[in-house]
Amino acid sequence: MKFCIIGSGPTGLGAAHRLAELGVGDFRVYERETQVGGLAASVRDGRGFTWDCAVHVAHSHYHAFDRMLTAALPDGYYTLERRAWVRLHGVDVPYPLQYNLRHLPPDIRAACVAGLREKDRRPVLESPPTNFREWIERGFGRGIAEHFMLPYNRKQWTVPAGEMSWQWIGDRVPTVDTARVLRHIEEQRDDVTWGPNATFQFPKEGGTGAIWKAVAARLPAGAVQLQREVVGIDPRAKAIRFADGGSERYEHLISTMPLPILARLTGLDAVAQRAAQLRHTRVYVMGVALDHPIPEALRDKTWIYCAGAESNFYRLTPFSMFSPAHTPDNARYCSLLCEISVPAGETRSPADLRAATFAGLVRGGFLAQVPEDTHTHLFDAAYGYPIPTPGRDRILGEVLPSLEAFQIFSRGRFGGWKYEVSNMDHSFMQGVEVIDRILAGTPERTLPTPDVVNAGKR
Ligand SMILES: Cc1cc2nc3c(=O)[nH]c(=O)nc-3n(C[C@H](O)[C@H](O)[C@H](O)COP(=O)(O)OP(=O)(O)OC[C@H]3O[C@@H](n4cnc5c(N)ncnc54)[C@H](O)[C@@H]3O)c2cc1C
Repeated sequence: MKFCIIGSGPTGLGAAHRLAELGVGDFRVYERETQVGGLAASVRDGRGFTWDCAVHVAHSHYHAFDRMLTAALPDGYYTLERRAWVRLHGVDVPYPLQYNLRHLPPDIRAACVAGLREKDRRPVLESPPTNFREWIERGFGRGIAEHFMLPYNRKQWTVPAGEMSWQWIGDRVPTVDTARVLRHIEEQRDDVTWGPNATFQFPKEGGTGAIWKAVAARLPAGAVQLQREVVGIDPRAKAIRFADGGSERYEHLISTMPLPILARLTGLDAVAQRAAQLRHTRVYVMGVALDHPIPEALRDKTWIYCAGAESNFYRLTPFSMFSPAHTPDNARYCSLLCEISVPAGETRSPADLRAATFAGLVRGGFLAQVPEDTHTHLFDAAYGYPIPTPGRDRILGEVLPSLEAFQIFSRGRFGGWKYEVSNMDHSFMQGVEVIDRILAGTPERTLPTPDVVNAGKR
């Protein structure tokens, strides 16, 4: 094969889509699972509930990605309005928290405002922050940092913000204009318009995974081979070995598996040791199917960020509100997605996760009770979030070129390991761009210059 692609998530399918578009037939996608989509896949379980691995909002930075979405599922999307909330100290505050402080209890609100005033008194010409914690404290003030930003980020990333870099932030975290905050408190006004995905599209049926099934279905027959796990790579012979005993030669290898695993499989020891220093989280997504319609308090919410210790999840999504097709009958059932981060390498048993999630739903005040026999669906992403650590770019700057010297191109959420360009649109385009680079020498944009692609739609 001229091109072998490992993995049929958005990155692998982006590469395959581009090859097919250019009329190159000499490629295969090898996927170890029984379906395509990777972390963006969805499943319909035996009881008729559809589940995503966490809610996937298709926010696009690229016209080419928009075109792909439309072509994949013509007429297949609902346009939803983002109604994100923050659950803090027992109250729901519209997202972004900093522009809606009026909802907080008076003492917490006063602490947040005092922190904002204090941060505004700092000298303008300070040296740049050295880590994410400093970035948060300088940008949001001590009050918002201590009440929300630091505990929430600790819960989601599993590591202290002081161990993370801040350069990845770009358009992901809304910064603060103190005058606007104070105006909103005074006028008792909410401001929920910030951010790039105020409205978003979601597949009418089949969850997010329906997009990727449709993309794969448009590829030439036989281009995607399921249940073919790559277990060995010989970079000098340019050959891959499969768990089923088969093998294949390639000219160019595009890998979307986690970079440390790829590096290990190549047997390039120095590269593997360096790649092993990259850090990540594990994410469990507990789907909870309830035998009653969606509770009134969750009806007007697309998702809720949960910073407090009363719940084990950092985000709760009333998933059945995204599409009536997510349950067998929305008048009778509803479904929730609860995302739980744990440090990489640690595991939790399904029984413990169930118990902790049920308790969190009740303690957090989301549900009055969760019956013991409630139907659940658990998704375990051993690689959930690639952590932006201060040393990350140096490691990537050594590891990726070392592999490319052997025509091995590692791309995607865990192939490229850059959180700031690891959503579905970025991943798909990393696949597209690497093919254009190999075939036409066109420089890639997404992986080398995240700030540029995130600055506006291209
Ligand atoms: C909790 C969570 C929330 C998210 N929310 C959003 C969101 O709101 N919006 C958004 O756009 N994106 C979101 N994402 C990101 C989105 O899921 C990723 O952008 C996307 O799935 C990454 O695609 P990928 O192809 O790079 O990797 P993956 O999806 O991880 O695909 C890699 C594929 O490689 C396969 N593979 C691995 N090893 C082998 C092997 N040895 N042999 C063969 N196959 C192999 C895997 O089975 C998998 O199918 C979220 C992700 C998570 C985890």
